[in-house]
Amino acid sequence: MTFASLGLIEPLLRSLAGLDYQTPTPVQSQAIPAVLKGRDLMAAAQTGTGKTAGFALPLLQRLTLEGPQVASNSVRALVLAPTRELAEQVLQSFLVYGQHLPLSCYAVYGGVSINPQMMKLRKGVDVLVATPGRLLDLYRQNAVRFNQLQCLVLDEADRMLDLGFARELDELFSALPKKRQTLLFSATFSDVIRQMAGELLRDPLSVEVSPRNAAAKSVKQWLIPVDKKRKGELFLHLLQKKRWGQVLVFAKTRKGVDQLEQELLAIGVAADSIHGDKPQPARLRALERFKAGEVQVLVATDVAARGLDIDDLPLVVNLDLPINAEDYVHRIGRTGRAGATGEAISLVCADEVEQLAAIENLTQQLIKRVDEPDFIPDHRVPLTAVGGQVLKKPKKPKQKLIPGAAKPAGKGNIHLGRWFEEEDAKPKAKAVRKVPSFGGKPKGGKK
Ligand code: AMP
Repeated sequence: MTFASLGLIEPLLRSLAGLDYQTPTPVQSQAIPAVLKGRDLMAAAQTGTGKTAGFALPLLQRLTLEGPQVASNSVRALVLAPTRELAEQVLQSFLVYGQHLPLSCYAVYGGVSINPQMMKLRKGVDVLVATPGRLLDLYRQNAVRFNQLQCLVLDEADRMLDLGFARELDELFSALPKKRQTLLFSATFSDVIRQMAGELLRDPLSVEVSPRNAAAKSVKQWLIPVDKKRKGELFLHLLQKKRWGQVLVFAKTRKGVDQLEQELLAIGVAADSIHGDKPQPARLRALERFKAGEVQVLVATDVAARGLDIDDLPLVVNLDLPINAEDYVHRIGRTGRAGATGEAISLVCADEVEQLAAIENLTQQLIKRVDEPDFIPDHRVPLTAVGGQVLKKPKKPKQKLIPGAAKPAGKGNIHLGRWFEEEDAKPKAKAVRKVPSFGGKPKGGKK
């Protein structure tokens, strides 16, 4: 199958040839013809499957061939994305795919000044990519109108709900014209997402390119059991012993991210970090440096888990397992993209066994355990079974120390202190999942 056979116009084919995209990916071959025909879409597609081109190409084509010139402060297609990073990345895709078309594309998100965004919107924008919070701000300030809106895309809808955007989405949906095309992409389909789809989509085509909630198949996954306090030390040991090249590392907390970054810099490893406390320009710069190969290790919290488009990234390391099992699937989606194979290694301590069981239940596979000599944990990670069971509860941490002896020091001279015990991650998701309704509320009807 070729892109031409899907019915795409010449300027788009020219862009694709320039990118050396030879054949459509499965999500693209299913989505493109349907979206070109104007159908709604409900797609279960993970990052790395080519889903962005799956919606961007047909939308660019429809906007070129159909509909009016964009009016001031108006948008014709709106893409909602959970994070600034993903919004930027989706914008870049639209700009590259649409480089030979006379359409304007722009992204708005929080964390940067709103004024330039208001100025830019004055002329009107054909494709606007936005995070929900900032878009709502702009809408409330009359900087953006939706009366010309032809198409709405929800990218990583599950993540938007996890990040607490349900209320913003609800308000935005009620401001959009009812007659429009809607495309919903989500890596996972919880009941809440299905309910949202039921309310927003009309006779959608369902596209599923990987089994429900499955982790990317081309990624080799395993875990190394380790004591909590030795995780950082183990990471540095593996980095040196295995001569790892570029690695994306996920840690649970912002503090944990900063600490590992410091430790890496202290031993001369080029490292940078991305987390929610960093200003947006610093986050983008870290990502750019990593993509340019100036940084060997990028340490991130889950803020960065979605939407990082880094080609051929061979390795993702989970220094800590994510609190939400679904985030595991997203984290490891950074590697093994577009047919490349990758590795995802998790450093797992006994305290994380429930998270491990939840991940294995979601992905319906046990993650292979590989012991690292010298790092066999004192606190054993209990065995798990597919189905989410923990076969034995972790034993209480027992003092194996010889009375009077000093605490066993870590290997090497790297002191990592207590940083893994620090909890500064925001409690997420819980409040969100409660919100029952999406869209359909009359404008101004909120209490
Ligand atoms: P996405 O899932 O949209 O984030 O895309 C994942 C990666 O695959 C991006 O780096 C795209 O540039 C690349 N990609 C998307 N479609 C194709 C294709 N048909 N052929 C080759 N690479 C692609």
